[in-house]
Amino acid sequence: MEFPKPQKYTARVSDSYYVTDNRHFLLVKFELTSPDRFEFSAGQYVSIRIDEAGNRRSYSIASSPDDTHGFTILAEMIPAGVGSSFLAALVPGDGVEVLAPLGRFVVDSTQLLPDSKLLFVATGSGIAPAYSMINDLLVNKHETRPMRLHWGMRGEENLFWFDNFMRLAEEHANFVFDPVLSHPSEDWDLCTGHVQDCLSRDFAEERLVGWHAYICGNPNMVEEVSALVLSLGVQQDAIHTEKFS
Ligand SMILES: Cc1cc2nc3c(=O)[nH]c(=O)nc-3n(C[C@H](O)[C@H](O)[C@H](O)COP(=O)(O)OP(=O)(O)OC[C@H]3O[C@@H](n4cnc5c(N)ncnc54)[C@H](O)[C@@H]3O)c2cc1C
Repeated sequence: MEFPKPQKYTARVSDSYYVTDNRHFLLVKFELTSPDRFEFSAGQYVSIRIDEAGNRRSYSIASSPDDTHGFTILAEMIPAGVGSSFLAALVPGDGVEVLAPLGRFVVDSTQLLPDSKLLFVATGSGIAPAYSMINDLLVNKHETRPMRLHWGMRGEENLFWFDNFMRLAEEHANFVFDPVLSHPSEDWDLCTGHVQDCLSRDFAEERLVGWHAYICGNPNMVEEVSALVLSLGVQQDAIHTEKFS
């Protein structure tokens, strides 16, 4: 697969808001100013300059690649984090310098067999690239192969895209959404535990032979889930990962 060469862009904040009441997750929308158009593949990320010294932080693009004039990121707010503080202080109209598009964490259709199935596993803000990839596949590309998402979070209060994924699952019979909570309320009747627990339970019998896995989030989870899906039958070269390190 060919990737466009990354280049520098300037962009302007067009909107910014917390997607959870606890202000742990911030969504920021950017409009490209110069150049004012780019192409990327769902799953890629941008590198944003966060200070005068030229320090940068990487953020996956959560928006769909059919929006070529801007992009959206979804950032977990790390207490006292330099990048987190930079993003939290942005207001509409502020300018940033960005290097994009970066990364190879994409669904490369040339690698897929006609009967390949797609498993997405994300924790926390690792859902950002999966959101772009799943929307791109279902809405833009009308993908009909079986697709499944396990999204792990701590509690209901952080499942900011629950309704969006539920709607996609209702509208696309080939897509199954499995939210997973480690610390749910008493009312939660879906999977409880870590994504590893729920994957082991869901695929104990069916296994994952013929699946491609796209795993994104904190490095420990990515390592553990990679080993798990390998043991459940995913081929090594069908495991695609992005570590938010
Ligand atoms: C390819 C790539 C894509 C990424 N995409 C995203 C994305 O879409 N959304 C997103 O939120 N992040 C993403 N990240 C992570 C992001 O780049 C930053 O590393 C992260 O936001 C922390 O940056 P910071 O400057 O706020 O914290 P820093 O100032 O770098 O760190 C402050 C302190 O917090 C610790 N820390 C850092 N991260 C965490 C964490 N997750 N949990 C607990 N402690 C932590 C550090 O070790 C340090 O002690 C991505 C990383 C990579 C490599």
